[in-house]
Amino acid sequence: MSKGDERIEIDGSEGEGGGQILRSALTLSLVTGRPFRLHRIRARRVKPGLLRQHLTAVRAATTIGAAEVSGDELGSTELVFTPGSVSHGDYTFAVGSAGSVTLVLQTVLWPLLLAPGRSRLTFEGGTHNPMAPPFEFIAEVFLPLLRRMGAKVDARLVRHGFYPAGGGSFVVEIEGGHPLVPLELYNRGAVLRRRARALLAHLPKSIGDRELRVVRNELGLERDEVRVVDVDSAGPGNALMVWIEAEHGTELFCAFGERRVSAEQVAARVVSEVRAHVEADAPVGPHLADQLLIPLALVGRGGYQSYALTQHTLTNMEILGRFLPVRFVVSDEGKGRSRVEAHPRE
Ligand code: AMP
Repeated sequence: MSKGDERIEIDGSEGEGGGQILRSALTLSLVTGRPFRLHRIRARRVKPGLLRQHLTAVRAATTIGAAEVSGDELGSTELVFTPGSVSHGDYTFAVGSAGSVTLVLQTVLWPLLLAPGRSRLTFEGGTHNPMAPPFEFIAEVFLPLLRRMGAKVDARLVRHGFYPAGGGSFVVEIEGGHPLVPLELYNRGAVLRRRARALLAHLPKSIGDRELRVVRNELGLERDEVRVVDVDSAGPGNALMVWIEAEHGTELFCAFGERRVSAEQVAARVVSEVRAHVEADAPVGPHLADQLLIPLALVGRGGYQSYALTQHTLTNMEILGRFLPVRFVVSDEGKGRSRVEAHPRE
């Protein structure tokens, strides 16, 4: 058995212990051709094992990569995944609930970007979910950085899908096989523009007005930088988003309206994230930091400056290093900032 065929064993309860371990393993397995066994999947979560959203990611990876898989059932705590070869094409992936489909995109994006050929992916489910990237984060923060690396990829929202009704959709067009250059994102540069949007579906406009009042008072945004946007969706929903556009990249911070949480509390969550970002004077926020590790690992070079590295980021570094000959070096740059760099491992 060559090294490439050796099965990688992963304990899913390690580190952050959430769905990202699964998604990163699926992605890297498809890209490297190396099979893996993941056990104790989400063992320390209230509902352990595979949820519908995770299962959709497994099925999506199985479909694009002609993989053999066992343990792909709801609630399963062990999965064995043996990849075949990745085929570009037209695919539709539906979560079948309000589960996040941006997370499903994260799973299949890299194998299809690396495989030569065009793909058109339609995602159906939750496009604006707590604890997942909202669609705008993907389209306006994440994908522009990948295009800077040479990737040819675009995303278009068809319909918003909020928790719990879901029913959202977006389309991603990929032209795979273009070589990637390292991303070097060590300076944020000056903040050029700030804007806030309160998205509302089937909810009174007053919720958005209250959220934006807090954003204006606390962050000093001008009237023409904030807007309430009424959106079409299957069920009710509210997302408050603030964009910070700087010389060397854009970041987006988001919080969702929930029952029994006031509009002012929702806004306060976003305000504190935006403040932390602006004060840190670093280009990469906590969520982008974990999501940029895959492109860094695939290229084997490049890096970024961030702050408050999360358990997601640290766990992801560890998982990626099992599949690829890469090591991540983290150095303290003062004032709470860290520099993360990918290096080839001998
Ligand atoms: P997990 O909790 O393991 O399912 O992973 C969640 C993923 O969603 C991670 O990559 C997070 O960085 C990402 N994520 C969560 N919240 C946000 C947010 N507000 N903006 C962007 N990405 C997010």
